Amino acid sequence: MVLLNLKNLKLREKSTNIIRRIVQISAFLLINYIILEFIFSINLISLEGFFKVFPVLNSPRNPLSEGAGILEYIFYSITQGLFPILLIGAFILIILLTNRFFCGWICPIGTIQDGITALPIDTKSMKMTTHKTLLKVKYIIIALLVILIIPLGITRVTDLALYVEFRDNLGPLAQKPIGFFSLSEFIFVFFPNMIASIWTSGGLAPLFSDIGLLAMFAIYIIIIVLSVWYPRFYCRYICPFGAVASTISTFSFLKLSRSPVKCVGRQECGICERVCPKQIRILDEPYQFFTGNGECNMCLECKEKCPYAAINIKFG
Ligand code: SF4
Ligand code: SF4
Repeated sequence: MVLLNLKNLKLREKSTNIIRRIVQISAFLLINYIILEFIFSINLISLEGFFKVFPVLNSPRNPLSEGAGILEYIFYSITQGLFPILLIGAFILIILLTNRFFCGWICPIGTIQDGITALPIDTKSMKMTTHKTLLKVKYIIIALLVILIIPLGITRVTDLALYVEFRDNLGPLAQKPIGFFSLSEFIFVFFPNMIASIWTSGGLAPLFSDIGLLAMFAIYIIIIVLSVWYPRFYCRYICPFGAVASTISTFSFLKLSRSPVKCVGRQECGICERVCPKQIRILDEPYQFFTGNGECNMCLECKEKCPYAAINIKFG
């Protein structure tokens, strides 16, 4: 009987993992559809509008994709003095209905991080106090962005000359505020451009030509390296999309719940917490439903690996 249950558990684990990997890889290829166009000599330009407002974070300068993600369009509209009520409404509705499913199953940057974590190296847990402090970083980034872009939008409609001066001083941050902090920007734009410059110049001079560039390069390399040991490091602590989405997803209709009858607790088990890539203290969350303060990305690792089938999806 025990053997049969273990077999069922393994099958369940495998099927969810396989389905999620297939969805992630398919989404990665579709969002970066230029790869598919190149391989299969097909025209997928009709996907452009769809992926432009997808609820994920992509770089608007990514040469493989036209999509930047809905948050980028909301922020860009605000810099233009517009209040995109429809986009904001659509964004809130998607998160309320799907929680952060798009982070766990669709986002190409999430997929890249999951790929890095899949390296055969044991992952680690961040010290809880450090984890809690670092969680605040993404909220600080989004707050700074809001502080910068709201006055930009106001000057756009009240004082055009001041707007132009302000916009020029902000540089690329004014054009693509969210993409500026996107790991996708580093992987698909900054890094390949830097390698091309180093290749053309025949030395590392381009990397050291600007202290800002060097700092950005170092920070993103550190983020990628840390993702080997700390799953979804960028999602947890840096992603501006994650900051906004987690604030809304706390109120999402789609959640997880834990049966207090089936769950045997941390002392005897605790597997769910050990496998959670977002390091959520699932067993400290209310059992009726939990979102880990909006950090849960609905990857369902905890649900699938729970040996007692104590975790369930809940809607409502
Ligand atoms: S894995 Fe399941 S049984 Fe184990 S602690 Fe988590 S919810 Fe409880
Ligand atoms: S709580 Fe479960 S579903 Fe949410 S991120 Fe952690 S493992 Fe994934």
